Amino acid sequence: MTPKQLLQESDLCVKCGLCLPHCPTYRIRQDEGDSPRGRIALMQALLSGQLESTPQLQAHLNRCLGCRACERACPSAVKYSKLIDGVRAIGYQQGDNMGQWARKIALKLASKPTLLSMGIRFLQCLPRHYLQKVCGQNLQRLIAFSFNLSRLIAWQTTYSPMGEKVGRVALFLGCMSQLSDQAALLSAIRLLNRLGWEVVVPPKQGCCGALYQHAGDPISAHEFQAQNRTAFAGQSVTAVLTIASGCGAHLKEYGDLSVAIYDVSDFLNRQPWPLQVKLKSLPQPVMVHDACSLRTADAVYPLLRQIPDITLIPLPENTLCCGAGGINLVTEPQIADALLAPKLTALRASKATILLSSNTSCALHFAAGIRKAGLNIEVLHPIQLLERQLLDNDHPTG
Ligand code: SF4
Ligand code: SF4
Repeated sequence: MTPKQLLQESDLCVKCGLCLPHCPTYRIRQDEGDSPRGRIALMQALLSGQLESTPQLQAHLNRCLGCRACERACPSAVKYSKLIDGVRAIGYQQGDNMGQWARKIALKLASKPTLLSMGIRFLQCLPRHYLQKVCGQNLQRLIAFSFNLSRLIAWQTTYSPMGEKVGRVALFLGCMSQLSDQAALLSAIRLLNRLGWEVVVPPKQGCCGALYQHAGDPISAHEFQAQNRTAFAGQSVTAVLTIASGCGAHLKEYGDLSVAIYDVSDFLNRQPWPLQVKLKSLPQPVMVHDACSLRTADAVYPLLRQIPDITLIPLPENTLCCGAGGINLVTEPQIADALLAPKLTALRASKATILLSSNTSCALHFAAGIRKAGLNIEVLHPIQLLERQLLDNDHPTG
């Protein structure tokens, strides 16, 4: 969007305030500047030249989690996410956004798994007291999350189905997910193979670009888009599947991948379940976190109900972001932890031992919070649980 189009879009906001109760950052900070209405007013003032960009103004914009709860609540259909991405992009070009070095480092590292893996192994080798001295709080937090990450592995380009082949799909690996959700990616491959799907993993694929798009760098985001378009072209697959709902939502926004994009749960929920594939009973409550990016594809519940005796319980206040949006998990620790706290309280009260989440950063955020709170709760991707319950599963769990 051009600055003029952005200004026109911001003018659609009638300042009714109906979005305010739905905004997680407003709920925590109770500051108009950290509400959707306040941010739109700030963006209007910036775009019309009434206000100059200041670190304080940019901080209000940067604190937005990108959860889009305001869009869903807005009666005027203001395209808030387009607005904030556009304004951040202008700021990025002018060099007044992304000024915080922690944001830049987190963004670069998060989108390059090889770099991230190497950087993390190096930092993990340094003594803790030294890290505390030389690193800011944000980088220390990134390092704390890193202890949950797997080592990079070499992916096969094709994984063959068991038994009769029903079709062929491609798997999108993501960047961060290769380290943080590797077990879920491997579970997805094994489950798809067990259900008769051949899985291809195009080697030249890259980050989906969402982190860059939402941080005001659409040029880098478009470069990733072009890379993925080439990587997935000509694969002759029924669909490209994602396991991280945030990546899936962004890939769908490309609009020019010549093949359908599905979250893996959504895809499997649309397929007939083969009668010969039996699942073990799981007679216990399982909590489900609904990621902001998967609100429109509510496939997890019907798919997982195929597990005999399972009780799926939506986490209370599932419509409110857990605080992990974008890279705010690292760059806005106070907000991220304040939003997670009531969810941890609900988990503790539930007595459940499994929490399901379909989004990488949410799962990392929950796992870290659960560990810190001393709770005995395993955080799994829904597909991991489904694969684990296969009656003839002879793979190790986790
Ligand atoms: S609900 Fe929509 S129109 Fe009302 S203040 Fe929020 S963004 Fe503006
Ligand atoms: S995207 Fe989420 S955090 Fe950002 S203004 Fe809207 S409701 Fe608030």
